[in-house]
Amino acid sequence: MRPPFPSFVVTVLVAALGLFACEPKPDGDLLIAEGEHIDIYYEEAFDLCEGTIAASDRGIEFVAAQLGLDTADFEHLRYMWLSRARLDEKRTSSTENAAGWASGRTSYGGYAFFSHEITHSIAFERDDNSLPFLREGLATAFDEPINGDGDNDGRLAPPGDPRPEFMSRNDEFSYDVAAGFVAYLLSRHGQERFWELYESVHSGSTESRLRRRFAAIYGLDLDAAVDDYLLGECPEDALPIPLPRSCGAEELPWRTDGTWIYSKVVDCEDEEVAGGINTTDPTETLFEATVTVEVPQAGLYSFEHIRTGGFAILYRCGGCPWLNQYYFPGEVRLAAGRHSLRLQSWQPQVNTVSLARIGD
Ligand SMILES: [Zn+2]
Repeated sequence: MRPPFPSFVVTVLVAALGLFACEPKPDGDLLIAEGEHIDIYYEEAFDLCEGTIAASDRGIEFVAAQLGLDTADFEHLRYMWLSRARLDEKRTSSTENAAGWASGRTSYGGYAFFSHEITHSIAFERDDNSLPFLREGLATAFDEPINGDGDNDGRLAPPGDPRPEFMSRNDEFSYDVAAGFVAYLLSRHGQERFWELYESVHSGSTESRLRRRFAAIYGLDLDAAVDDYLLGECPEDALPIPLPRSCGAEELPWRTDGTWIYSKVVDCEDEEVAGGINTTDPTETLFEATVTVEVPQAGLYSFEHIRTGGFAILYRCGGCPWLNQYYFPGEVRLAAGRHSLRLQSWQPQVNTVSLARIGD
């Protein structure tokens, strides 16, 4: 069955803009849900799911911690969840084709899911005008697919050579290629050196500056790093960053009979469910429940999803994130360790997911 919205990843059309000097003011007729780190402004006709604010605050802390940032130092963030017509009114020439955008500490989008833009706002704490390749690569590296059609069992971003993209403008490069290489830099060399690079090359910097700064910070020629990245090998000392927000969800234990079963009515009214109902555009309605599971032993697993609708997406929360895959139901080969499971729906749905080891 095809979902009632297109099967693509929302990050393809998003842009980051840290260039505005003053914060835009929200419109007075919007509803506000207040969180510890972020407030969500949304239209009266929309239904913000019960768990969205809590999940957003947890997600901000989870991403910040991986990037070595302390949320206590953060500016309070604001997300504007708006109808397409209202987003169109807010656009400027630089956000003409974007599905969402971040402008300083305020970001905009048509989904109640907005992790990409929030990652931009988090990164603005360090620098608001970094090289577009690094800026979009970072935001996309923490993204997760917003839906799946069951046919896609592969990695979202097969490694591609990032070199032709380094100096491209915002809308002229593959965010997935950038995300792959940024994820590699974070996982292989840690967040401190990444921030140093992030803060020292900007929109308008030359490629020769990028190469010089990279060599000085990493003690490594940029081409050598790209060559190592393109090998697609996972060294044992890789850091498990960046991991998407779902990896910070609560763990559900295995049953004593050796199976793992998660039964859930995914309903926007449930306080464990995050997302929202966009009443002006059903294609932008989506909500999800997320848990994590510790896979005890590597091997072949049967990953089943019995449901009245919606998607189940499994992701490895460890290893070398730049090589990790998303798994959809079927027979899947899993590594030992933590995985996240996201159940996504667009109306209240009954779901049962099971995992059972069926071979080596
Ligand atoms: Zn972006």
